[in-house]
Amino acid sequence: MRDRERKKNPRPSAPVRRFENWSFDRPGRIPYKMVFCVPDMNMGQETQIQKGIRIPGLVDLQVNGFKGIHFSDPSLAQEDCVLACRGVIEAGTTAFLPTVITSPSEVYEHNLPIIAAVLREQEFQGRLLGIHVEGPFISARDGARGAHDAPWIREPDVGYLEQIIEWADGRVKLLTIAAEPEGAEELARFASGRGITVSLGHQMAGEADLHKLVRAGAASLTHLGNGVPAMLDRHENPVWAGLANDDLIAMIISDGHHLPASILKTIIRTKGAGRCVVVSDASSPAGLEPGEYEVLGHRHVLEEAGRLYDPATGYLAGSSATMLRCMNHLASLNLVGPDELVAMGFHNPLALIGLGPEDVAGERDLTFDAERNVFYLAT
Ligand SMILES: [Zn+2]
Repeated sequence: MRDRERKKNPRPSAPVRRFENWSFDRPGRIPYKMVFCVPDMNMGQETQIQKGIRIPGLVDLQVNGFKGIHFSDPSLAQEDCVLACRGVIEAGTTAFLPTVITSPSEVYEHNLPIIAAVLREQEFQGRLLGIHVEGPFISARDGARGAHDAPWIREPDVGYLEQIIEWADGRVKLLTIAAEPEGAEELARFASGRGITVSLGHQMAGEADLHKLVRAGAASLTHLGNGVPAMLDRHENPVWAGLANDDLIAMIISDGHHLPASILKTIIRTKGAGRCVVVSDASSPAGLEPGEYEVLGHRHVLEEAGRLYDPATGYLAGSSATMLRCMNHLASLNLVGPDELVAMGFHNPLALIGLGPEDVAGERDLTFDAERNVFYLAT
Protein backbone atom coordinates (compact mmCIF):
# COMPACT_ATOMS: atom_id res chain seq x y z
CA MET A 1 0.00 0.00 0.00
CA ARG A 2 1.25 3.45 -0.84
CA ASP A 3 2.19 5.70 2.07
CA ARG A 4 -0.43 8.23 1.10
CA GLU A 5 -3.17 5.61 1.20
CA ARG A 6 -1.85 4.14 4.38
CA LYS A 7 -2.16 7.47 6.15
CA LYS A 8 -5.77 7.63 5.08
CA ASN A 9 -6.45 4.07 6.20
CA PRO A 10 -4.09 3.18 8.98
CA ARG A 11 -4.03 -0.52 9.77
CA PRO A 12 -1.84 -0.63 12.82
CA SER A 13 -2.23 -4.33 13.54
CA ALA A 14 -1.82 -5.71 10.05
CA PRO A 15 1.81 -6.07 9.13
CA VAL A 16 3.31 -7.99 11.98
CA ARG A 17 0.44 -10.30 12.78
CA ARG A 18 -0.20 -11.23 9.20
CA PHE A 19 3.30 -12.22 8.32
CA GLU A 20 4.78 -13.17 11.63
CA ASN A 21 6.35 -16.32 10.30
CA TRP A 22 8.23 -14.55 7.58
CA SER A 23 11.89 -14.19 8.19
CA PHE A 24 11.97 -10.54 7.23
CA ASP A 25 8.89 -9.37 9.01
CA ARG A 26 10.24 -8.79 12.47
CA PRO A 27 10.34 -5.25 13.72
CA GLY A 28 13.84 -4.13 14.52
CA ARG A 29 15.47 -6.85 12.47
CA ILE A 30 15.23 -5.16 9.11
CA PRO A 31 18.65 -3.60 8.73
CA TYR A 32 17.73 -1.04 6.17
CA LYS A 33 14.56 0.46 4.90
CA MET A 34 12.94 -0.78 1.75
CA VAL A 35 9.80 -0.38 -0.25
CA PHE A 36 7.62 -3.37 -0.93
CA CYS A 37 5.28 -2.44 -3.73
CA VAL A 38 2.76 -4.99 -2.62
CA PRO A 39 -0.48 -3.24 -1.75
CA ASP A 40 -1.67 -5.72 0.82
CA MET A 41 1.61 -6.19 2.59
CA ASN A 42 1.65 -2.75 4.18
CA MET A 43 5.32 -3.15 4.88
CA GLY A 44 7.04 -0.23 3.48
CA GLN A 45 8.93 2.55 4.96
CA GLU A 46 10.25 4.89 2.30
CA THR A 47 13.86 4.11 1.81
CA GLN A 48 16.44 2.63 -0.44
CA ILE A 49 18.02 -0.73 -0.89
CA GLN A 50 21.68 -0.80 -0.03
CA LYS A 51 22.63 -4.25 -1.17
CA GLY A 52 21.23 -7.28 -2.92
CA ILE A 53 21.41 -9.22 -6.16
CA ARG A 54 19.48 -7.67 -9.01
CA ILE A 55 17.17 -10.26 -10.58
CA PRO A 56 15.73 -10.13 -14.09
CA GLY A 57 12.07 -10.30 -13.06
CA LEU A 58 9.17 -12.48 -11.97
CA VAL A 59 6.78 -14.10 -14.44
CA ASP A 60 3.39 -15.41 -13.27
CA LEU A 61 1.56 -17.87 -15.53
CA GLN A 62 -1.67 -17.83 -13.51
CA VAL A 63 -3.40 -14.61 -12.46
CA ASN A 64 -7.19 -14.84 -12.24
CA GLY A 65 -7.72 -11.30 -11.07
CA PHE A 66 -6.51 -8.60 -8.74
CA LYS A 67 -7.85 -5.84 -6.51
CA GLY A 68 -11.51 -6.71 -6.91
CA ILE A 69 -11.41 -7.40 -10.65
CA HIS A 70 -11.78 -10.95 -11.94
CA PHE A 71 -10.76 -11.74 -15.51
CA SER A 72 -13.68 -14.22 -15.72
CA ASP A 73 -16.30 -11.77 -14.47
CA PRO A 74 -19.22 -11.56 -16.93
CA SER A 75 -19.26 -7.78 -16.52
CA LEU A 76 -15.54 -7.32 -17.16
CA ALA A 77 -14.85 -3.95 -18.81
CA GLN A 78 -11.68 -3.06 -20.64
CA GLU A 79 -10.84 -0.24 -18.17
CA ASP A 80 -11.16 -2.64 -15.24
CA CYS A 81 -9.01 -5.19 -16.98
CA VAL A 82 -6.35 -2.50 -17.49
CA LEU A 83 -6.52 -1.48 -13.81
CA ALA A 84 -6.12 -5.07 -12.64
CA CYS A 85 -3.16 -5.64 -14.96
CA ARG A 86 -1.48 -2.43 -13.81
CA GLY A 87 -2.06 -3.45 -10.21
CA VAL A 88 -0.39 -6.82 -10.70
CA ILE A 89 2.63 -5.18 -12.32
CA GLU A 90 2.88 -2.47 -9.65
CA ALA A 91 2.90 -5.24 -7.05
CA GLY A 92 6.17 -6.58 -8.43
CA THR A 93 5.22 -9.03 -11.19
CA THR A 94 7.23 -8.27 -14.31
CA ALA A 95 5.02 -10.13 -16.77
CA PHE A 96 2.08 -12.52 -16.51
CA LEU A 97 -0.77 -14.40 -18.14
CA PRO A 98 -4.28 -13.16 -17.30
CA THR A 99 -6.20 -16.37 -16.65
CA VAL A 100 -9.79 -17.16 -17.55
CA ILE A 101 -11.30 -20.06 -15.67
CA THR A 102 -14.15 -22.39 -16.71
CA SER A 103 -16.95 -20.10 -17.88
CA PRO A 104 -20.14 -20.09 -19.93
CA SER A 105 -19.77 -19.30 -23.63
CA GLU A 106 -21.06 -15.75 -23.17
CA VAL A 107 -18.21 -15.00 -20.79
CA TYR A 108 -15.55 -16.39 -23.14
CA GLU A 109 -17.11 -14.46 -25.98
CA HIS A 110 -17.23 -11.23 -23.96
CA ASN A 111 -14.03 -11.43 -21.89
CA LEU A 112 -11.48 -13.00 -24.20
CA PRO A 113 -11.68 -10.23 -26.84
CA ILE A 114 -11.39 -7.61 -24.06
CA ILE A 115 -8.30 -9.24 -22.62
CA ALA A 116 -6.83 -9.67 -26.12
CA ALA A 117 -7.39 -5.94 -26.73
CA VAL A 118 -5.60 -5.06 -23.48
CA LEU A 119 -2.74 -7.34 -24.55
CA ARG A 120 -2.35 -5.21 -27.66
CA GLU A 121 -2.02 -1.95 -25.69
CA GLN A 122 1.42 -0.38 -25.82
CA GLU A 123 1.89 -0.22 -22.05
CA PHE A 124 1.49 -3.99 -21.74
CA GLN A 125 3.96 -5.04 -24.41
CA GLY A 126 6.38 -7.45 -22.77
CA ARG A 127 4.15 -7.48 -19.67
CA LEU A 128 1.05 -9.44 -20.72
CA LEU A 129 2.46 -12.45 -22.50
CA GLY A 130 -0.80 -14.11 -23.56
CA ILE A 131 -3.83 -15.70 -21.94
CA HIS A 132 -4.05 -18.79 -19.76
CA VAL A 133 -7.32 -20.61 -20.40
CA GLU A 134 -7.85 -22.88 -17.38
CA GLY A 135 -10.77 -25.16 -18.25
CA PRO A 136 -13.45 -25.77 -19.40
CA PHE A 137 -12.13 -29.24 -20.37
CA ILE A 138 -11.46 -30.39 -16.81
CA SER A 139 -12.83 -32.97 -14.39
CA ALA A 140 -16.34 -32.24 -13.12
CA ARG A 141 -15.70 -34.18 -9.93
CA ASP A 142 -16.04 -32.17 -6.72
CA GLY A 143 -12.63 -31.35 -5.35
CA ALA A 144 -10.93 -31.93 -8.69
CA ARG A 145 -12.85 -29.04 -10.20
CA GLY A 146 -11.86 -26.80 -7.27
CA ALA A 147 -13.60 -23.43 -7.58
CA HIS A 148 -14.60 -24.02 -11.23
CA ASP A 149 -18.38 -24.10 -11.67
CA ALA A 150 -19.63 -27.56 -12.66
CA PRO A 151 -22.29 -26.44 -15.20
CA TRP A 152 -19.68 -24.93 -17.52
CA ILE A 153 -17.26 -27.85 -17.53
CA ARG A 154 -17.11 -29.60 -20.92
CA GLU A 155 -15.88 -32.81 -22.46
CA PRO A 156 -12.86 -32.29 -24.74
CA ASP A 157 -14.06 -30.58 -27.89
CA VAL A 158 -11.55 -29.38 -30.49
CA GLY A 159 -14.18 -27.29 -32.27
CA TYR A 160 -15.02 -25.42 -29.07
CA LEU A 161 -11.33 -24.87 -28.33
CA GLU A 162 -10.95 -23.40 -31.82
CA GLN A 163 -13.78 -21.02 -30.98
CA ILE A 164 -12.09 -20.02 -27.71
CA ILE A 165 -8.83 -19.37 -29.56
CA GLU A 166 -10.69 -17.23 -32.05
CA TRP A 167 -12.42 -15.19 -29.33
CA ALA A 168 -8.97 -14.69 -27.79
CA ASP A 169 -7.65 -13.40 -31.10
CA GLY A 170 -5.13 -16.25 -31.15
CA ARG A 171 -3.52 -15.11 -27.88
CA VAL A 172 -4.07 -18.28 -25.83
CA LYS A 173 -0.61 -19.20 -24.56
CA LEU A 174 -1.42 -21.81 -21.95
CA LEU A 175 -4.32 -24.26 -21.71
CA THR A 176 -5.15 -26.33 -18.65
CA ILE A 177 -7.08 -29.54 -19.30
CA ALA A 178 -7.71 -32.79 -17.46
CA ALA A 179 -5.76 -35.74 -18.85
CA GLU A 180 -8.26 -38.56 -18.29
CA PRO A 181 -11.39 -37.71 -20.33
CA GLU A 182 -11.79 -39.31 -23.72
CA GLY A 183 -10.61 -36.88 -26.37
CA ALA A 184 -8.03 -35.17 -24.14
CA GLU A 185 -5.17 -36.43 -26.35
CA GLU A 186 -6.71 -35.04 -29.49
CA LEU A 187 -7.31 -31.75 -27.72
CA ALA A 188 -3.70 -31.60 -26.51
CA ARG A 189 -2.39 -32.44 -29.97
CA PHE A 190 -4.48 -29.72 -31.53
CA ALA A 191 -3.51 -27.09 -28.95
CA SER A 192 0.20 -27.83 -29.00
CA GLY A 193 0.05 -27.79 -32.80
CA ARG A 194 -1.25 -24.24 -32.48
CA GLY A 195 1.71 -23.21 -30.31
CA ILE A 196 -0.26 -23.40 -27.06
CA THR A 197 1.42 -24.98 -24.05
CA VAL A 198 -0.79 -27.72 -22.63
CA SER A 199 -0.85 -28.19 -18.89
CA LEU A 200 -2.67 -30.92 -16.98
CA GLY A 201 -4.72 -30.12 -13.90
CA HIS A 202 -8.11 -30.19 -12.16
CA GLN A 203 -8.11 -33.88 -12.95
CA MET A 204 -8.28 -37.41 -11.58
CA ALA A 205 -5.66 -38.68 -14.03
CA GLY A 206 -3.52 -41.71 -13.34
CA GLU A 207 0.01 -42.50 -14.55
CA ALA A 208 -1.15 -43.95 -17.86
CA ASP A 209 -3.30 -40.89 -18.63
CA LEU A 210 -0.37 -38.57 -18.00
CA HIS A 211 1.96 -40.61 -20.22
CA LYS A 212 -0.61 -40.55 -23.02
CA LEU A 213 -0.97 -36.80 -22.75
CA VAL A 214 2.79 -36.25 -22.71
CA ARG A 215 2.94 -38.12 -26.01
CA ALA A 216 0.19 -35.78 -27.26
CA GLY A 217 2.29 -32.74 -26.36
CA ALA A 218 1.39 -31.86 -22.75
CA ALA A 219 4.26 -30.14 -20.98
CA SER A 220 3.27 -29.40 -17.41
CA LEU A 221 1.02 -29.90 -14.43
CA THR A 222 -1.20 -27.03 -13.30
CA HIS A 223 -0.78 -26.27 -9.57
CA LEU A 224 0.40 -29.76 -8.64
CA GLY A 225 -1.03 -30.80 -5.27
CA ASN A 226 -4.11 -28.60 -5.64
CA GLY A 227 -7.27 -29.02 -7.71
CA VAL A 228 -7.70 -32.52 -6.29
CA PRO A 229 -10.29 -33.87 -3.82
CA ALA A 230 -9.39 -33.70 -0.14
CA MET A 231 -9.67 -37.51 0.12
CA LEU A 232 -7.75 -39.63 -2.39
CA ASP A 233 -6.64 -43.20 -2.86
CA ARG A 234 -3.36 -43.50 -1.02
CA HIS A 235 -1.37 -44.59 -4.07
CA GLU A 236 -3.48 -44.21 -7.19
CA ASN A 237 -3.98 -40.49 -7.40
CA PRO A 238 -3.03 -37.58 -9.68
CA VAL A 239 -0.55 -36.09 -7.20
CA TRP A 240 1.71 -39.15 -7.03
CA ALA A 241 1.28 -39.74 -10.75
CA GLY A 242 2.24 -36.15 -11.49
CA LEU A 243 5.21 -36.23 -9.14
CA ALA A 244 6.50 -39.42 -10.73
CA ASN A 245 6.22 -38.21 -14.30
CA ASP A 246 9.63 -36.84 -15.25
CA ASP A 247 8.35 -35.30 -18.48
CA LEU A 248 5.96 -32.88 -16.84
CA ILE A 249 7.05 -29.60 -15.30
CA ALA A 250 5.28 -28.80 -12.02
CA MET A 251 3.56 -25.50 -11.46
CA ILE A 252 3.23 -24.83 -7.73
CA ILE A 253 1.37 -22.24 -5.69
CA SER A 254 3.81 -21.30 -2.95
CA ASP A 255 1.61 -18.76 -1.19
CA GLY A 256 1.93 -20.56 2.14
CA HIS A 257 -1.67 -21.80 2.07
CA HIS A 258 -2.04 -24.07 -0.96
CA LEU A 259 0.81 -26.42 -0.15
CA PRO A 260 2.49 -27.16 3.19
CA ALA A 261 6.26 -26.78 3.33
CA SER A 262 6.76 -30.56 3.29
CA ILE A 263 4.90 -30.89 -0.02
CA LEU A 264 6.73 -27.94 -1.58
CA LYS A 265 9.97 -29.57 -0.54
CA THR A 266 8.93 -32.95 -1.91
CA ILE A 267 7.87 -31.51 -5.26
CA ILE A 268 11.02 -29.41 -5.66
CA ARG A 269 13.31 -32.27 -4.59
CA THR A 270 11.54 -34.73 -6.89
CA LYS A 271 11.19 -32.56 -9.97
CA GLY A 272 14.30 -30.47 -9.43
CA ALA A 273 14.17 -26.67 -9.35
CA GLY A 274 14.82 -26.68 -13.09
CA ARG A 275 11.43 -28.29 -13.64
CA CYS A 276 9.30 -26.26 -11.24
CA VAL A 277 7.38 -23.06 -11.91
CA VAL A 278 5.98 -20.81 -9.20
CA VAL A 279 2.55 -19.31 -9.88
CA SER A 280 0.42 -17.09 -7.64
CA ASP A 281 -3.06 -18.23 -8.79
CA ALA A 282 -4.15 -14.81 -7.52
CA SER A 283 -7.90 -14.23 -7.48
CA SER A 284 -9.82 -10.95 -7.40
CA PRO A 285 -9.60 -10.42 -3.61
CA ALA A 286 -5.78 -10.37 -3.94
CA GLY A 287 -4.55 -6.91 -3.09
CA LEU A 288 -7.61 -6.19 -0.91
CA GLU A 289 -8.17 -6.15 2.84
CA PRO A 290 -9.20 -9.34 4.66
CA GLY A 291 -12.97 -9.83 4.59
CA GLU A 292 -15.77 -11.44 2.62
CA TYR A 293 -16.03 -10.92 -1.11
CA GLU A 294 -18.37 -12.01 -3.84
CA VAL A 295 -16.31 -13.72 -6.51
CA LEU A 296 -18.17 -14.82 -9.65
CA GLY A 297 -21.40 -15.22 -7.68
CA HIS A 298 -19.82 -17.08 -4.76
CA ARG A 299 -19.03 -15.83 -1.29
CA HIS A 300 -15.30 -16.12 -0.66
CA VAL A 301 -13.55 -15.36 2.58
CA LEU A 302 -10.11 -13.76 2.73
CA GLU A 303 -8.62 -14.41 6.14
CA GLU A 304 -6.23 -12.10 7.93
CA ALA A 305 -3.37 -14.51 7.22
CA GLY A 306 -4.08 -14.42 3.49
CA ARG A 307 -5.96 -17.70 3.06
CA LEU A 308 -8.79 -17.37 0.54
CA TYR A 309 -11.53 -19.99 0.51
CA ASP A 310 -15.13 -20.75 -0.37
CA PRO A 311 -17.00 -21.34 2.91
CA ALA A 312 -19.66 -23.39 1.11
CA THR A 313 -17.18 -26.08 0.08
CA GLY A 314 -14.21 -25.42 2.33
CA TYR A 315 -11.93 -25.52 -0.72
CA LEU A 316 -9.38 -22.83 -1.44
CA ALA A 317 -10.54 -20.43 -4.13
CA GLY A 318 -7.34 -19.20 -5.69
CA SER A 319 -4.89 -17.17 -3.68
CA SER A 320 -4.64 -13.66 -2.33
CA ALA A 321 -0.92 -13.59 -3.00
CA THR A 322 1.26 -11.80 -5.48
CA MET A 323 4.15 -13.52 -7.22
CA LEU A 324 6.53 -11.60 -4.97
CA ARG A 325 4.81 -12.96 -1.90
CA CYS A 326 4.90 -16.54 -3.25
CA MET A 327 8.60 -16.17 -3.99
CA ASN A 328 9.28 -14.82 -0.53
CA HIS A 329 7.38 -17.64 1.15
CA LEU A 330 9.36 -20.15 -0.89
CA ALA A 331 12.62 -18.34 -0.16
CA SER A 332 11.84 -18.39 3.57
CA LEU A 333 11.75 -22.21 3.52
CA ASN A 334 15.47 -22.35 2.66
CA LEU A 335 15.00 -25.19 0.21
CA VAL A 336 17.00 -23.74 -2.66
CA GLY A 337 19.44 -20.95 -3.41
CA PRO A 338 18.95 -17.69 -5.32
CA ASP A 339 19.66 -19.15 -8.76
CA GLU A 340 17.04 -21.84 -8.33
CA LEU A 341 14.52 -19.34 -6.99
CA VAL A 342 15.05 -17.07 -9.99
CA ALA A 343 14.75 -20.09 -12.29
CA MET A 344 11.40 -21.05 -10.75
CA GLY A 345 10.05 -17.50 -10.73
CA PHE A 346 11.39 -16.20 -14.05
CA HIS A 347 13.30 -18.42 -16.49
CA ASN A 348 11.23 -21.61 -16.13
CA PRO A 349 7.81 -19.99 -16.58
CA LEU A 350 9.04 -18.17 -19.67
CA ALA A 351 10.56 -21.31 -21.14
CA LEU A 352 7.38 -23.29 -20.46
CA ILE A 353 5.40 -20.96 -22.71
CA GLY A 354 8.14 -20.87 -25.33
CA LEU A 355 9.51 -17.43 -24.48
CA GLY A 356 12.78 -16.04 -23.16
CA PRO A 357 13.99 -13.03 -21.14
CA GLU A 358 14.15 -10.98 -24.36
CA ASP A 359 10.35 -11.23 -24.62
CA VAL A 360 9.83 -9.44 -21.31
CA ALA A 361 9.85 -5.67 -20.87
CA GLY A 362 12.64 -3.97 -18.92
CA GLU A 363 13.72 -4.67 -15.38
CA ARG A 364 11.60 -3.72 -12.40
CA ASP A 365 14.41 -3.22 -9.89
CA LEU A 366 13.76 -6.53 -8.26
CA THR A 367 16.48 -7.44 -5.84
CA PHE A 368 17.24 -10.54 -3.83
CA ASP A 369 18.97 -10.28 -0.49
CA ALA A 370 20.64 -13.67 -0.21
CA GLU A 371 21.61 -13.07 3.41
CA ARG A 372 17.99 -12.82 4.50
CA ASN A 373 16.37 -14.78 1.67
CA VAL A 374 14.04 -11.96 0.66
CA PHE A 375 13.06 -10.47 -2.68
CA TYR A 376 12.52 -6.72 -2.71
CA LEU A 377 10.97 -4.40 -5.21
CA ALA A 378 12.47 -0.93 -5.19
CA THR A 379 10.69 2.14 -6.43
ZN1 LIG B 1 -6.96 -24.03 -10.82
